[in-house]
Amino acid sequence: MKQHDAMYIDGSWRPAEGSGTIEVVNPADEQVIATVPAGSARDVDAAVRAARAALPGWAATAPRERAARLAALRDQLAARTEEIAETVTAELGSPLAFSTNVHAGVPLAVCASYAELAGTHAFEEKVGNSTVLHEPVGVVGAITPWNYPLHQIVAKAAPALAAGCTVVLKPAENTPLVAQLFAECVDAAGIPAGVFNLVTGLGPVAGQALAEHEGVDLVSFTGSTAVGKRIGALAGAAVKRVALELGGKSANVILPGADLPKAVAVGVANVMANSGQTCSAWTRMLVHQDRYDEAVELAAAAAAKYVPGERIGPLVSAAQRDRVRGYIERGIAEGARVVAGGPQAPAGPGYYVAPTVLADVTPEMTVAQEEIFGPVLSILKYADEDDAARIANGTVYGLAGAVWAGDDAAAVAFARRLDTGQVDINGGRFNPLAPFGGYKQSGIGRELGPHGLSEYLQTKSLQF
Ligand code: NAP
Ligand code: MG
Repeated sequence: MKQHDAMYIDGSWRPAEGSGTIEVVNPADEQVIATVPAGSARDVDAAVRAARAALPGWAATAPRERAARLAALRDQLAARTEEIAETVTAELGSPLAFSTNVHAGVPLAVCASYAELAGTHAFEEKVGNSTVLHEPVGVVGAITPWNYPLHQIVAKAAPALAAGCTVVLKPAENTPLVAQLFAECVDAAGIPAGVFNLVTGLGPVAGQALAEHEGVDLVSFTGSTAVGKRIGALAGAAVKRVALELGGKSANVILPGADLPKAVAVGVANVMANSGQTCSAWTRMLVHQDRYDEAVELAAAAAAKYVPGERIGPLVSAAQRDRVRGYIERGIAEGARVVAGGPQAPAGPGYYVAPTVLADVTPEMTVAQEEIFGPVLSILKYADEDDAARIANGTVYGLAGAVWAGDDAAAVAFARRLDTGQVDINGGRFNPLAPFGGYKQSGIGRELGPHGLSEYLQTKSLQF
């Protein structure tokens, strides 16, 4: 795999200040494929200084010029689709077709949307006798996870750049190679030096230094709730803007009038995609008691078709694999019934977990409450719609979800009762322009589309 033994700071690849390194492992065969530098607080400081120095120039650039640079970035990503997909497959382990369609395809669509929005967004509005200016927030510290590694970078960097902000990115230690590839694309797109900077490194070192840096105006974090709470506390203490995209335990609610086979098939596919490492995955399937046994049978049969190493990849790391297997064991201990998969790991090498379906799950069980982040579906039973709404809303999370009913109106009526940021109605498609983000402990703020752009803007009112 192509790699840089350097950080991308102020428009060039420069050596890290320290000598620490991170080994990148291919989770499908457990081989080390690359080594990248582990940045220190000094590297973060150099990157933040570069971003601060570049801010006045970039913030003052005409929106159509920023749109042109983002269009060039989109073209770079498009030209390197194959390389992006191969890189994500090597460091995350997802099957190549999924890497091509989703890990390369979605960031391309998101970058294209911000190339468009940068040129068309109203950065000024009239309110009575005032003109309201929408100005960039400033220097953005972006901290991203490994599960959709390029998407999560682009979902922060593209709106930040469109808004006129400058960026320092600390990507996940497991997936730094696609982040380096993105920095190459930024460079080739002619985005000025210092506007985007990359520091690879460990969360508690480089990530923490970035979250704490007083030269950062907004911290945008995607990852675990535990780390998100710390970052939120740091930002609160410094009166700094913060955006948090955290975990989920989303419900797939199948109402009695729904097309059950379709709802179950789409629901299982949703959970197994990316080996279950999706914050918005519908990991709880809620089925009416009269059709529960039928749904369990359909789900078990659907899950059995996800052959590890073919349709479904490994988990990102040995630690994640062990964590997920621990959850399956916990589910069994608390009374869940395994109808597909189970805690036994498929024959190695590779950090695989068997695609697993748990039946007889009740709302208070750990597997119904906590984010597992693996290919594990819990199926719960409800008595009536009130019961279904209570169970669906009965976790600390509220990121996504689905409702299936006999018609869209019935599904929408139920969706209004859900405490969650997104709901797919009868199998609605992913929309890269729709605001994405959480209710409750799933986070603060929204990404994607015009709502995502607003996160990187602050307002100034001029009175006439
Ligand atoms: P994580 O630790 O929250 O990682 C997310 C990002 O934060 C990474 O870049 C990480 O760096 C960094 N980080 C870690 N500690 C930090 C700190 N003290 N200060 C600043 N930044 C820090 O998540 P994880 O350990 O990779 O995954 C654990 C669990 O989190 C998963 O099992 C899943 O439940 C959840 N998760 C959710 C999402 C999501 O999309 N909502 C994504 C990933 C994980 P390192 O890479 O060096 O740790
Ligand atoms: Mg971590």
